Amino acid sequence: MDARQVEQVLAHLCGKGLFGDVRQWCESRFDCVYVVTCPDCGCRFVLSEAEYSELVERSSALQVCGVLPGRCEVRMPYPRPPSLG
Ligand SMILES: [Zn+2]
Repeated sequence: MDARQVEQVLAHLCGKGLFGDVRQWCESRFDCVYVVTCPDCGCRFVLSEAEYSELVERSSALQVCGVLPGRCEVRMPYPRPPSLG
């Protein structure tokens, strides 16, 4: 896991005192990433599950910026085609 990615997200959002918009993207059941979007400029950060949980942990310690644990929306961008069933 790359801790610097977590630092970057925090530095970006906390520089503006914002909470990012979080989406969970899953290509398959065990292949999920978290996309944090900055509500101000729209830039996006992609985090692994481990990075995301570290981000949540550090955000809840800060309480003023970062991400909110309850604000994760689950999305399935690639629904399984019927032919693979
Ligand atoms: Zn931004």
